[in-house]
Amino acid sequence: MTSGANDKRRLTILGSTGSIGTNTLDVVRQLGGRDRFEIAALTGNGNIDLLAEQAKSFGAELAVTADEGQYEILKAALAGTGIEIAAGRNGLIEAAERNAGWVMAAIVGTAGLAPTLAAARRGADIALANKECLVSAGDLFISAVAEGGGKLLPVDSEHNAIYQVLEEHQRHAVERIILTASGGPFRTSTLAEMRDVTAATARAHPNWSMGLKISIDSASMFNKALEMIEAKHLFRMRPDQIEVIVHPQSIIHSMVGYSDGSVLAQLGCPDMRTAIGYALSHPARPQLDVQRLDFAKLSRLDFEAPDEERFPALRLARLAMERGGAQGAILNGAKEVALEAFIGGHVGFLQMAEITEAVMDALSHMPAATTMDDVFLADEEARRIARQRVEQTAAAA
Ligand code: NAD
Ligand code: MG
Repeated sequence: MTSGANDKRRLTILGSTGSIGTNTLDVVRQLGGRDRFEIAALTGNGNIDLLAEQAKSFGAELAVTADEGQYEILKAALAGTGIEIAAGRNGLIEAAERNAGWVMAAIVGTAGLAPTLAAARRGADIALANKECLVSAGDLFISAVAEGGGKLLPVDSEHNAIYQVLEEHQRHAVERIILTASGGPFRTSTLAEMRDVTAATARAHPNWSMGLKISIDSASMFNKALEMIEAKHLFRMRPDQIEVIVHPQSIIHSMVGYSDGSVLAQLGCPDMRTAIGYALSHPARPQLDVQRLDFAKLSRLDFEAPDEERFPALRLARLAMERGGAQGAILNGAKEVALEAFIGGHVGFLQMAEITEAVMDALSHMPAATTMDDVFLADEEARRIARQRVEQTAAAA
């Protein structure tokens, strides 16, 4: 951890205007705000008003919009404040490279890869919300963190839960990890019902309040698919050690099964601030004003096996892990294109998995990435073929 002359912790939040970003700033505020923390940089994309307001109220040194077209608007919004501004991909890298001991990686999608990697390489502790870093760049990203020498602190609630109960000194005794999944809004829907759903219904998550894309990924269980691959890299697990169980209440955030039959779980109300606070204060636990579990009111916890026929994304995650090569990056790139096409109303809900699988099959020969350029190439190829598939699918409809 890097400390300023005044001993405040220096933080950067990549994606501060999103769901994870605003929750992170709330945790920072709860833990003392500007009295205890210095914000090196905040980044957003289109939401300039919020970015400017955050930068002013937390006294950020640098505010960055990923959208170059918004540079002048951000400049006007922060005129006279002394806050530096930047824009575009280079601006994001500048934010990531600025001296801060702890960086929240909360940009959504592949756009988060390059800045998160830049922060990892210079040795910052990385609080990782962006799952695409591990899904697409897996071992390369893990190596970059190891070479930089910072900690990798998982923020995704499932992985944060596992991180909390995976006892490093008993790692040899870990048999399996069990990721819980809420099942999303279509947990009990039939395939026929799922065929015609819209983005507006798909985004209505029963338990968690999240960004648009991850909410729809939760409904299709692509979110869980990404998390299976994420878990494989984070915890060095074989694919057969990674299980998924549907748990509609989202109270158990995930579990670790040990060789003596013990299962350790982390529980809490569905509120990302607990995971964010853990990542910020690790190895200590912060004092947080979040809702406490009331077991008497809860009365029961339910579980059911996931249905891979209705939710083929889970099968695709296993396929990607078994095939290896560049399949993680390909699954993710194709899925992002299919997801955008679904949000735009060009393809149906179930077609997201069909398109993704077709792209994975078409590119099954691509070898594992040995450089980040390989990762970006696999991602671009996957997107190119996925766009063709989207056009064919839309034309056939
Ligand atoms: P969000 O859509 O609410 O916010 C995304 C952030 O990224 C915003 O600050 C936005 O301005 C920025 N952004 C969007 N497009 C960008 C681009 N092209 N370039 C640079 N910045 C861009 O998303 P979120 O729900 O906060 O999720 C952020 C990440 O955390 C995702 O990878 C998601 O999978 C992961 N995650 C989120 C949750 C959650 O509860 N929201 C839980 C686990 C993991
Ligand atoms: Mg999650």
